[in-house]
Amino acid sequence: MLDINKIRADFPILKQTVYNKPLIYLDNGATTQKPQVVIDKIIDCYTKINSNIHRGVHFLSEQATLEYENSRLLVKDFLNAASTAEIIFTRGTTEAINLVASSFSERYIKADDQIIVSAMEHHSNIVPWQIVCERKNAVLKVIPMNSSGELMTEKIAELINDKTKIIALTHISNALGTVNPIKNIIELAHAHNIPVLIDAAQSVQHLSIDVQDLDCDFLAFSGHKIYAETGIGILYGKEKWLNEMPPYQGGGDMIKTVSFEKSTWADLPLKFEAGTSNYIGAISLGEAIKYIKNVGINNIYEYEAELLSYATTLLQSIPELKIYGTAEHKASVISFNLKNIHQYDAGTLLDKLGIAVRTGTHCAEPVMQFFGITGTIRASLAFYNTKQEIDALYEGILRIKKKF
Ligand code: PMP
Repeated sequence: MLDINKIRADFPILKQTVYNKPLIYLDNGATTQKPQVVIDKIIDCYTKINSNIHRGVHFLSEQATLEYENSRLLVKDFLNAASTAEIIFTRGTTEAINLVASSFSERYIKADDQIIVSAMEHHSNIVPWQIVCERKNAVLKVIPMNSSGELMTEKIAELINDKTKIIALTHISNALGTVNPIKNIIELAHAHNIPVLIDAAQSVQHLSIDVQDLDCDFLAFSGHKIYAETGIGILYGKEKWLNEMPPYQGGGDMIKTVSFEKSTWADLPLKFEAGTSNYIGAISLGEAIKYIKNVGINNIYEYEAELLSYATTLLQSIPELKIYGTAEHKASVISFNLKNIHQYDAGTLLDKLGIAVRTGTHCAEPVMQFFGITGTIRASLAFYNTKQEIDALYEGILRIKKKF
């Protein structure tokens, strides 16, 4: 099991006080804090090896390139991908999904084709597909969910037909915490030869992912949500698709040869990495993955599940509190509202107690529309959170209730 005191000591920001109160950071769904080893790695890179990658024959460039490519290897192993050719560095989940939406649709989607997403997607996994639909005259279809915030998977077969070209689906809902049965859905999709993209922005930091076992065609996540820097992310894609898809952007690094008559593309994965990438961010991601491996992703999963269950029981005991997202299989997120108290007021008052939660629509407006609400208060957990912090959230909510 986890030594929480030791883990908390690894994250310097958690030692802070805000408004003279100990910081209680429950906004991990938005972004996670960084362990000292990741911060040190970034400083180390800038003080010792900073140099543009893949371009120089000199010592620093070689060192930076080695570290960058080593990070790719760490990500490949972390996801159990078949090859580093399948691991593309992007700016984050959003760019990874946009890459697939743009490039896959260029190659495979024509007028009247259909794309399936789900009712609980983040805007990042809706809007890129809407742009495709507008450009290609294609149709967006939506897997519905029930009032517990679970996908109605029995409806998927009805949505699929000859025109379905891709299913893009979140693994864990950032607004509700629902863990979707992606393996079953991928299996069903593949029975109809339909590829599946998994948005793993909220899952890769909480549970073990094996892309070969899942057999997903694409998977996207963000470095900053998995204890690494901002501005870096991953697109995993099966080589068979990536080889067929045209480049997403043109520029340096993604070419083999360039002439005014014709240019040719670099092999995977560089074909999709145009321009100077956030190589220090990529190196920080490798370091974060090493840190997580040390702690153990299964230990993280078990500890966070216990924390979520504790928090759910405690918050549910408050009669005026309603939880949105009561799926049987959930992870790390509790979204709720307090009767007659606007979520912004509650969030602001919690903040004054040193408790950082997120309020609003969580970039999932269709989820809010489904429940007929303007937003929620969201507490999202990480493995450095404690039961004492959950107690403080509970006490804070009781104080707010009294105030109103
Ligand atoms: N998908 C989900 C499920 C998310 O939670 C987020 C971030 N909130 C994103 C996509 C977008 O991630 P990013 O902003 O890091 O690209």
